[in-house]
Amino acid sequence: MNTHLCAFRYEVQKKRKSVLDDMCELISQRFVDRNTNRVQCGIVYCFSRSDCEKVARELQAAFNQQGGVRVAIRHYHANLSPEEKEAVQADWSHDRVQVIVATIAFGMGINKPDVRFVIHFSIPKSLEGYHQETGRAGRDGREAACILYYSYGDCQKMRSMIQDNQQGIQTPPEQVQCNIESLNSMVTYAEEQVECRRVQLLQHFGERFNPVDCRGTCDVCRNREAAGMDYEMQDMSVEAQKMVELVQSLNQGKTANYVLNVWHGSKNQQVLKAGHNNLPLHGYGKDRGKNTGSRLLRQLMQKDVLREETFLANGFSSSAIKVVPAKARQLERGELKVVLPVITSGGGETSKSGGKTRQPRGSTKRRGKAGSVSPVRAPALKSGMNKRVASSVDLDEIEPIDLTNDRCVAERKKKK
Ligand SMILES: [Zn+2]
Repeated sequence: MNTHLCAFRYEVQKKRKSVLDDMCELISQRFVDRNTNRVQCGIVYCFSRSDCEKVARELQAAFNQQGGVRVAIRHYHANLSPEEKEAVQADWSHDRVQVIVATIAFGMGINKPDVRFVIHFSIPKSLEGYHQETGRAGRDGREAACILYYSYGDCQKMRSMIQDNQQGIQTPPEQVQCNIESLNSMVTYAEEQVECRRVQLLQHFGERFNPVDCRGTCDVCRNREAAGMDYEMQDMSVEAQKMVELVQSLNQGKTANYVLNVWHGSKNQQVLKAGHNNLPLHGYGKDRGKNTGSRLLRQLMQKDVLREETFLANGFSSSAIKVVPAKARQLERGELKVVLPVITSGGGETSKSGGKTRQPRGSTKRRGKAGSVSPVRAPALKSGMNKRVASSVDLDEIEPIDLTNDRCVAERKKKK
């Protein structure tokens, strides 16, 4: 796997409202053959069939409007007729089409060597899926980029879909939980700002990678190096237990953002009104800094010690962080460890043991500017995201994805 990965550049871009224009600009700047003035070969993966059609249409329009660069963009999904599919594939093979906007239905049996970029327009359901889809880039061994446009709203949409799927076609709860965990791993990957992306990816597949060998080919390493920061792995199991305690003392009814606010010692209106500034753990995590706090929370979700449950309240989607008692006990007994990358020099946050260093002003901004995403934010509190996120998703629109992760289910069965 290593050799293949080395020609890859990994990065996560913040998905904004202007994502289509952003994508058009990014492709124009980085993936144009300067001899022919034509866009290089690439795939854009979307979540649903309607997304595919819309993105293909609007991206083409954005290029046309911009002018200058030549490109032909087509969509591809399982609902195309066999003739249509064949035509798109033939155009793609013969370079008459440069960019395919597709669901995961596209890829099986596709072996075009010169795919220079794989862009994910929405968050994939798992790191396994992500790895498989990005693996369609750079088969000629030359450099290729794997770019993920990430928003927390997409992740909630996916989570709601997994949960609705359970009610609709009676997916076993065990499977649903596995799917949620797979998604959580993907979210952790997307939101990471300290640890090398290759380390994360390979770790997930049980391999080790020395981040020194990344040589700035992932955005996290590049941004960290640009800011002159270094990191080390630290055992944060004690802090993790405290965070679980905090969630319990909030009666397991608060959003991730609220939990983090109390953890960091916020005295905002909401916190004061509820009297949560008087909790013994109010401000417990403030010396560690905000990024570490949100990473800790994510790691606890990934390890299934905490779960974020979404529900409908007054017609709006809301969420709450809950404790999984069996896992919390494992953490308490030291059977489960929480180890996190912590910035040790040059910026960011240091540990209590590491001294009094606070984050220099501007360092997070510098990273933000470079296009990375901010830490865990309030789920569903901004813009139109309040609306029931899943309601806009028609299940028929989605490829019959296996929202399954057999390895995960097998492992869970084994543990029982
Ligand atoms: Zn890296």
